[in-house]
Amino acid sequence: MNVILLGAPGAGKGTQASQISDRFGLPHISTGDIFRENIKNATPIGLLAKSYTDKGQLVPDEVTCQIVEDRLSRADCKNGYLLDGFPRTIAQAEALDKFAKIDYVININVDFGLLMDRLCGRRVCKDCGESYHISRLNGETKCSRCGGELYQRKDDNPETVQSRLDVYKAQTAPLIDYYTKKGIILNFTSTDAPPSVLFAEIEAKLIELSK
Ligand code: AMP
Repeated sequence: MNVILLGAPGAGKGTQASQISDRFGLPHISTGDIFRENIKNATPIGLLAKSYTDKGQLVPDEVTCQIVEDRLSRADCKNGYLLDGFPRTIAQAEALDKFAKIDYVININVDFGLLMDRLCGRRVCKDCGESYHISRLNGETKCSRCGGELYQRKDDNPETVQSRLDVYKAQTAPLIDYYTKKGIILNFTSTDAPPSVLFAEIEAKLIELSK
């Protein structure tokens, strides 16, 4: 099963992705994580990506598509994968169509009014990537799942979040239509309920479809 997770920044893609990945045994491929890892290790891709991610802009399509094509050609993707944060433009979706066959697109809709607070209050585990909101941490600085240190992503500040949301509306939201026309989109809504509620809905749908 080859699946894409689509949704605005802060819709909860990362949280859902790690649960879907565990439950269905699909490698979780997050282009954002790949860029952050490259930035941390100061690779040539990292140096290029940093100038875009710091401003909340998209890394150029050619670079991003090549990274994904290489990643999908690895052995662990042979029986399926979960793409998180890719594609983000129509050009990326068209490029993906040339090297992959996508079965389902899980689109997580969310009220935009929730996103600024969600993202600016987000803290992420540097080891396992689990996300938390500062309002529920009560001063805790370690991940309750693995004990890793929690940190605030550099792009989770009001100015960069606003530009990420603008980029989503202009460049990524048109993908909803693109995949609706292909008849492979599955629509869900993220609310303030715990992420397990949304996961249960996604899990039930994927089980029904794989029967
Ligand atoms: P994310 O962790 O998915 O929010 O991604 C963080 C940042 O990485 C984005 O704001 C972009 O700068 C960059 N990025 C991630 N995925 C893509 C993509 N598919 N195309 C271009 N840039 C991306």
